[in-house]
Amino acid sequence: MVSSSNLGFPRMGENRELKKLVENYWQGKVEEVQFQKELKEIRINHWKLQKEAGIEIIPSNDFSLYDQVLDHIHLFGAIPKRYTPVVESEVEDNSNGLRTYFAMGRGYQTSKAATQVSETNTAGAFASKVEKSIDVGSMEMKKWFDTNYHYIVPEFEDAQQFKLTNYGGYTQPKPVHEFLEAKSIDIETRPVILGPISFLLLGKSSDSSKPYASKFDSLVHLNSLLGVYEELFKQFQQIGVKSVQIDEPVLCFDLLETELVKNAYSTAFNAIHKVAPTINILIATYFGEIRENIELITSLPINGIHIDTIRSSPAELESVLTKIPTTWTISIGIIDGRNVWKNDLTKSLVTLKNIISKTGDRILLAPSCSLLHCPHSLAREIGKVEAQVLDWLAFSLEKLKEISFLTYALNKCTFTNENTIVFPDDACSTIKQYYESNKESNEKRRQSKLIHNDSVKKRVTEITPSMLKRENPFPVRRDAQRKRLTTLPALFPTTTIGSFPQTKEVRLARSSFKSKKITADAYDQFIRDEIRKCIKVQEECELDVLVHGEFERTDMVEYFGEYLDGFVFTQNGWVQSYGSRCVKPPIIYGDVNRPVPMTVEYTTFAQTLTHKPMKGMLTGPVTILQWSFVRDDQPRSETCFQIGLAIRDEVTDLENKGIACIQIDEPAIREGLPLRLSDWNQYLKWAIDSFLLSSTGVKDSTQIHSHMCYSDFNDIFESIQRMDTDVLTIENSKSDLKLLKAFEKYGYTNEIGPGLYDIHSPRIPSVEDMKDRVEQMLKYLSTNLLWINPDCGLKTREPETTRLALINMVKVAKQFREIY
Ligand code: GLN
Ligand code: ZN
Repeated sequence: MVSSSNLGFPRMGENRELKKLVENYWQGKVEEVQFQKELKEIRINHWKLQKEAGIEIIPSNDFSLYDQVLDHIHLFGAIPKRYTPVVESEVEDNSNGLRTYFAMGRGYQTSKAATQVSETNTAGAFASKVEKSIDVGSMEMKKWFDTNYHYIVPEFEDAQQFKLTNYGGYTQPKPVHEFLEAKSIDIETRPVILGPISFLLLGKSSDSSKPYASKFDSLVHLNSLLGVYEELFKQFQQIGVKSVQIDEPVLCFDLLETELVKNAYSTAFNAIHKVAPTINILIATYFGEIRENIELITSLPINGIHIDTIRSSPAELESVLTKIPTTWTISIGIIDGRNVWKNDLTKSLVTLKNIISKTGDRILLAPSCSLLHCPHSLAREIGKVEAQVLDWLAFSLEKLKEISFLTYALNKCTFTNENTIVFPDDACSTIKQYYESNKESNEKRRQSKLIHNDSVKKRVTEITPSMLKRENPFPVRRDAQRKRLTTLPALFPTTTIGSFPQTKEVRLARSSFKSKKITADAYDQFIRDEIRKCIKVQEECELDVLVHGEFERTDMVEYFGEYLDGFVFTQNGWVQSYGSRCVKPPIIYGDVNRPVPMTVEYTTFAQTLTHKPMKGMLTGPVTILQWSFVRDDQPRSETCFQIGLAIRDEVTDLENKGIACIQIDEPAIREGLPLRLSDWNQYLKWAIDSFLLSSTGVKDSTQIHSHMCYSDFNDIFESIQRMDTDVLTIENSKSDLKLLKAFEKYGYTNEIGPGLYDIHSPRIPSVEDMKDRVEQMLKYLSTNLLWINPDCGLKTREPETTRLALINMVKVAKQFREIY
């Protein structure tokens, strides 16, 4: 028999209930008891929904208040030392561990520690009863593999100790608690645990002055870490857990230290097997091909493996399948867990039948990866998304129904030689109709006129090498730019990354406009007023290159997508980005074209309000691609070039209107990197070419800025250089100085602005902190190339915090101008 299963369900809820709940809790607007009650309701609802969708194997412990890696950090007692005062304050208050949990996720500052106004001081639920001075930043966040989800990076001390804990108001460890909670409503779940090797390899040394030479160094902690896995699995065994999904996504990486890694896996899984011999262990791999790592996997004492067939070529899949031991269960990730297209059930059935002919039916059907990366359900899109496009889509709940249909078809239907499905006599008409309508939707999508624009396709074929480079090298351009930008100080010019705080009023105005509660005129006036206020603040702070503040944008992609042909927007298609932050990626379904300018109006308006340069603010093609759900009927590179052309046109229009600085944000270039080194070059070629296509159609005197965040791009440095931006601002307040060393090592010659403070934390950075950072930077970067800026956009912060932070930042720039 084939069974239906799921690897993880989106946490936020149909209406982002989790986000709202957690944020209210942070603000002290919801009491502990009520908080726990509502969390439980969300979990129970999600289990029931999966059951109703026909899923037999349902996950637990996939739920999280902030991030699943942070859950494991706390669960394993791997709390970095700097949070000890928070832990102690919780002991004194007899609190439940969540203060420390959220402190690691988003920083913590008591009012006593705050010298100025701040957003987290006296934060309701977190206000320590014993009023202490505690001020600690958040842990580092990183992109989860090549997704747009961020995880909290574990930190390990030299002799790191681990301890299984029951934080969060539970009397048992979280995975145990959640299993029992589901069991109480008669749902037998399969707990999901992040595997020990992935947990270690995703982490870093807690001492930033002694970073690991190789990421495999963290494996030295394996023996002490295994203690907590053993303890956890013992408890699983005691409460009757039958099977556990152990996520080991690093198995789709190049595990270069082959022997070391192989031994680590062997030690870890033998230890787990020993304490819990009756529990079925399924190792879940996803986001890529397993390739040579299959050898090490098959030597482990486990009972099954999950394979992401969406990210595996047919040849790779075939080769992996032949190597899997005959006693194992094989979980086939047949439905794309990271995209939104309706599955082609007819095609999937052919693939699955082919697999079963080789393996027999010891098969579980599943999404390719956790559905964390896919929106909740299509229910709220009906009547909102263009009907033709809506018919091509499937979100999480719809995907689970596809899995359950495929399971039914394989177990109950027969197939003719031509692979036509024959339903059993007792099949109900609904299920037959479901299949027929799936076939029809896929056929309509293939044929649709909506998708194809011949002139765009032609323009892409006509891209020439000269369209991918600036007229002159950087030193020539720098002179031209400095001549033109007469208000810039000679050294340490200051700027911001683009967005300014998006207050309740801004968000309300935008949503009122969208729901037609206010007129386009009223909305336009509102935005212009915000721009005026924002420019006033920037002038008061004495920043040098100003921005208009991005008040008209919810995020970096939606605004552009709304202007571009080939994009569609959902009403409620939210996916978690980090913590309580969600994004609503647009869906690129067809050829991309820019019928009219997108940003020229507000940028030129903003420029009329100041004598300082106004920086035009665009999102780059790779980032637009990466942060959207992309059509799967042509190569991603093709879609990316189409977007590149659209942005190029926008850049030209801005330049023609006299805008002298234009920033093209590309924070997503790095996260788009394939997991395997051998696949990088091919990706980097088209990704950087697309950026160049968008950014090089300007005169020497126009200063092109680009911004990247969370980029540890030591290993793609040549590509960064190839981008040839005049000014590159990067996230650096949390990363160690390794990044800057790379700029020195490669002799980077263009201007650069490594972020001086972390905008993800509500703390106000002090002048001293930032001066320190500049001093550090000057060890690696030449004074005349350095810009002074925050490490990312300011939209999530409060206006007053922002103003005070920027005043401090400009003070720092001025002090350095005096020294040099
Ligand atoms: N310009 C964007 C902003 O300031 C950049 C955000 C980002 O890099 N994520 O919000
Ligand atoms: Zn950024």
